[in-house]
Amino acid sequence: MVKTELLYLKDAYLKETVAQVLEVTEDGVIFDKTVFYPGGGGQIHDTGAVIVGDKRINVSRAFKKGGEVYHIIEGGELSSGEEVILRINWDRRYRIMKMHTSLHIIGAIMYFDYNVLITGSNIYEEYARIDFPMKGMNKELALSIVAKADSIAKEGHEVRTYFMPTKEALKHREYFRVADISKYAKYLGDEVRIVEIVGVDTELDGGTHVKNTKEIGEIKFLKYESKGSKNRRIYITV
Ligand SMILES: [Zn+2]
Repeated sequence: MVKTELLYLKDAYLKETVAQVLEVTEDGVIFDKTVFYPGGGGQIHDTGAVIVGDKRINVSRAFKKGGEVYHIIEGGELSSGEEVILRINWDRRYRIMKMHTSLHIIGAIMYFDYNVLITGSNIYEEYARIDFPMKGMNKELALSIVAKADSIAKEGHEVRTYFMPTKEALKHREYFRVADISKYAKYLGDEVRIVEIVGVDTELDGGTHVKNTKEIGEIKFLKYESKGSKNRRIYITV
């Protein structure tokens, strides 16, 4: 049983929370709840601070290990039982959310227009990248895909995040962006988390997203790379 309530899964816009220190370990600090995204699914971890009274302790990283979320603190000490405020670096996180939703729009274009599955994606502070196998891809096509994603974003689609019984989700093959669904389904629990960009894309996802695609602003093409005979990579930013 995971000790920490993962507040970011239900409300990506939560910038801070009151929390209690549960454990101070060699790996990091565990709280009873957290707003810190610990990284995963390609999305980089959050940074921020722990506020104790008038003291501010830096949180350089959060990560998941054995299901628990550990926070790496710098420049201060905490002890179990202490009540604190956890605050994420919101400007950084909000930009990451915009880029994550942008990648889902691009992933939907690849899937529905080209029948291509995304094989990897990474969202960092300053940019995001997406990998897929596609021999016929080139820079011009990459540019047009990003331009299409940008115009879809500007249409202002609502983005919904919710949980669904795994059995129910499995009825929708398109929610699972994996080649082998039976192998993948074995590792799922009773419930899966769904991110739906209404009218554009619905898929399983554990990350944080904007509430409406118009919040993204502009999806900007950064770079196109051809890696090996099949693998292609597009870099974007917002
Ligand atoms: Zn995602």
